[in-house]
Amino acid sequence: MKSDLVVVYHRQPYEEVEHEDGTVELRENRSPNGIVPTLKGVMGRMGNGAWVAWKHAEDPANPSFDRVIEIDDSYGKYKVSRLPLTKEQVSSFYHVTSKEAFWPILHGFKEKYNYDPVDWSTFREVNWAFAEAAANEVSDNGVVWVHDYNLWLVPGYLRQIKPDVKIAFFHHTPFPSADMFNVLPWREEIIRSLLACDSVGFHIPRYAQNFASVAHSLTRARTISDEHTADTMTPRGAALSERFTPTLMEHRGRKIRIEVNPVGVNVDYLSDLAEAPEVEEKVRAIRDWMGEGQLVVSVSRTDYTKGNIEQLETFERLLNRRPELHGKVRLMLVSVGANRNMTAYEEVQQKIEELTGRINGTHGTFEWQPVSLISTAIPLAELVAYYRAADVASITPLADGLNLVAAEYCLAKATGDDGALILSEFAGCAVLLNGAIPVNPFSHASMDRALDQALAMGPEERASRMVELRQSAKRWSIAAWSDRMTRHFRELLAPPQDGLS
Ligand code: UDP
Repeated sequence: MKSDLVVVYHRQPYEEVEHEDGTVELRENRSPNGIVPTLKGVMGRMGNGAWVAWKHAEDPANPSFDRVIEIDDSYGKYKVSRLPLTKEQVSSFYHVTSKEAFWPILHGFKEKYNYDPVDWSTFREVNWAFAEAAANEVSDNGVVWVHDYNLWLVPGYLRQIKPDVKIAFFHHTPFPSADMFNVLPWREEIIRSLLACDSVGFHIPRYAQNFASVAHSLTRARTISDEHTADTMTPRGAALSERFTPTLMEHRGRKIRIEVNPVGVNVDYLSDLAEAPEVEEKVRAIRDWMGEGQLVVSVSRTDYTKGNIEQLETFERLLNRRPELHGKVRLMLVSVGANRNMTAYEEVQQKIEELTGRINGTHGTFEWQPVSLISTAIPLAELVAYYRAADVASITPLADGLNLVAAEYCLAKATGDDGALILSEFAGCAVLLNGAIPVNPFSHASMDRALDQALAMGPEERASRMVELRQSAKRWSIAAWSDRMTRHFRELLAPPQDGLS
């Protein structure tokens, strides 16, 4: 049976666990937090879903696995179409083209953009294969929901293969302005593919507005309707604020809906986790160990966009400026390495290790190590205990699509713990969370001031800001996102008579 909703996401919707006897178990992701369970949640609610992802194969023409399998897990029954790709194809389309060319441009780092190793024909070939696999699974008028920049060409191909299908695309990253996006030599091909969609989704109004401006710069697409951005989504004067949000575009006689819907966190799961007895115990242990000292936490992947180097430099300046804080403050920097085989990330990791060594070597004593650098992922249940115990969370990316850690920190404070949040103005969630100390990570003065302010903030102010932060974090929960997406797909599947399409 064909599916009414086909999710196209590069990763498979479960963990593949290989046992000693060579058998492979497809294990449901343990945590309901994260993008895969979120997408599965929407697919489960729509019913009769399918998922397309890649899977490594030595010989894609004769893969050693079934292309299409049926899964029955707590999200319901759905099909998974596994697209066989060689290691070279994955490396080229994902690690090279997407991560070395697209990623820096999406985040505004022209100087990191690496064009030379891109093999555009492989990118096209892989995207075409994804489009074909989706076309095979979708019902005649069903919806195909494509995710992220590594699959940018899928909508255009799908429109060629199956013209009547509904196509929705969601961006999980920032979308840059025309001045930045148009650095990509494939800009027109990409934007025309996205304009073949029935709807294109973003986290926040700014990214939607940037998309519209890129489309205007390269094609005859027009924005035909927009709306005032809700106050809850755009604090006046914030770096990423946008007073108007485009809602509908038109290109070659077709309408394209622009959806702004920030993916949130699993509020209930986070809140329950924060109150679990073992978390409670761990929080007490961390606090006992910290004594009167203040704990600053910062959690992210190791990536030049995340601003971890700037974070360490700020902490170093703090210790140089304020010797009275020696022995009384600690920075826990969780910077989890991914894509270790890529030079750009290795350089960041090396710099982080160097800086940590320098700070601890210069200022540390036998009893007090100012920076704890953790480079391997901490399970969320443990992370939540650090969030709860921390006096300050410092989330200072130079650019970030949304940043879930900031929201998780606030939601973990479920039991009335207080705490201050320092939040970069260039994280998408800065326009959604109220009550944070805004910071400009490109300015030493701003970073220094924010850290001073957070450390000096009294318990009353911390508590009242935390109430605001938690209220706003709860607004963009996974539940709200899924409700809106499900409604949107139902409308696409059965457009109202007087509707937009
Ligand atoms: N995370 C984790 N353990 C770690 C570091 C991060 O579980 O040691 C999780 C974190 O809780 C969050 C996600 O990884 O849910 C990071 O999401 P975010 O949006 O902040 O950044 P991204 O990595 O998607 O850019």
